[in-house]
Amino acid sequence: MPVVQPASPSLPAAKIRAITTVPLIGESPKGGWSAEIKPEDSIHALIAVHTDAGITGFGSVFTDGRLVQAALKVLEPLFLGENALEPERVTEKLHQNTFWMGRGGSLTHAISGIDIALWDILGQATRMPVGRLLGGTYRTRVQPYCSLLMEQPAEMFKVITRYRKDGFRAFKIGWGPFGRAMNAKLDEDIVRAARDAAGPESRLLVDAGASDAHWPHGLKWAMRTAEMLAKHDVGWFEEALKPDALEDFCHLRRVSPVPIAGGEVLTRRQTFQPWLVKGAFDIVQPDVTKVGGISEQRRIAWMAHDFGVKYIGHGWNTALGLAADLQLASAFPDTDLVEYIGGSPYVDGILREPFVVDSEGYLAIPDTPGLGMALDPEKVARYTPDARLLFQA
Ligand SMILES: [Mg+2]
Repeated sequence: MPVVQPASPSLPAAKIRAITTVPLIGESPKGGWSAEIKPEDSIHALIAVHTDAGITGFGSVFTDGRLVQAALKVLEPLFLGENALEPERVTEKLHQNTFWMGRGGSLTHAISGIDIALWDILGQATRMPVGRLLGGTYRTRVQPYCSLLMEQPAEMFKVITRYRKDGFRAFKIGWGPFGRAMNAKLDEDIVRAARDAAGPESRLLVDAGASDAHWPHGLKWAMRTAEMLAKHDVGWFEEALKPDALEDFCHLRRVSPVPIAGGEVLTRRQTFQPWLVKGAFDIVQPDVTKVGGISEQRRIAWMAHDFGVKYIGHGWNTALGLAADLQLASAFPDTDLVEYIGGSPYVDGILREPFVVDSEGYLAIPDTPGLGMALDPEKVARYTPDARLLFQA
C-alpha cells in the first residue's frame, strides 16, 4: 500500500497522478554503430511524472520510446498514488516488484527516467537543487567533454577545431573507423589529428566503442592500442573490449599506461559490484538514463569511490540526462567531467535556456530547485508527434 505522508508540516503531500512519455525523433544523432541510427529512429525518450500537488518532474530514458510506453503500462499499478517525494523508496519498489519481468532491460531503463523525474519533484517541493539533496556540494561548475564520432584524420581535425572555437577544452573521440577499419596506422593518424586540433592543453579521451555489434578485436589489440594512445597524452581508453569481457578488462587495467574506462552498458547497481571488486576500471561510466536513475547512480558512484575508481556519468543523450549528470557531478568529490554530445538538438534544442560553455570551457551547475532546467514545450514539439502528452496530462 502506498504510504503518503507530508515530509514536514510545511511540505504538502504529492501523490503520483500519472506518468507519461514521448519519443524524441526526427533528429536522432548518429551513434557510430555498425547498424547506424537514422534521424527518424527513436532511441531516446522523455518522461514526465505528474502529481496531484501541481508539481511535474521530468526525466530522460535512453531507449526506444515504444519500450518506455510499454514499461509504463506494466509499472502503472505500482506507481499510481505513490508518494512523489520519496524517489529512492518508490523506485526501489518498482525494481523489487519487477524482478521476473526483465530486470536490467527496458523496465530498468524506464524506471531510470521515473527516478530522475521524482528527484526533480523533490527538489522543486523542497526548493533545493538535486545535488544538495544528494548530500552536499563539491563544485558549482564542471568541465563538459565534447563527445564526437571518429572521422578520417583531415575531417577529425576540422570537427575538433570547430568545437574548440565553441569553447570546449576537453574532447572524446570514438566509434566510426577506429579499430573497425583494421588499420592501426589509420587509428593513430586519427588520434594524432585530434590531438593537433585540440592542442596540448586540452583533454583528449578515446572510446573504441567495443559494445558495438560484433566488435572484431580482443585483449592484444587493446593492449597495443593503449600503448599508442599513451604517446598522444590520451586521458582514458573507453570500451576497449567487448562489454562482458570482465577478466580481460582487469588485465588491461593492470598493464595499460592510460586509464581504462567503461560500464556504460551495465545496468543495476548489483551488476557493477563484480567489476569494482575485481578491479576492471580506473573510471566507471554508468548511464543515469539506463542504470536505474539518480538513486542507483548515486549508490554506484559511492561504491566506486570506495574502491578508488573515479565516477564520470554517461547521461549525454538529452538535455535532461545531462542535467541529471550535472547535479550528480556537484555531489561527488572527484567527478570533474560530464559527457556532452556535440551537435545534438536533443541536448542543445529543447530547453528554455540552452547550456552555455563559459570562457574556461566549463558548464555552471544549476543551484535552482530540482534539476534546474526548464523544457521548452514548443521546442520539444519539434522532435515528437504530441508534446502535449508530456506537459498537459
Ligand atoms: Mg562510450
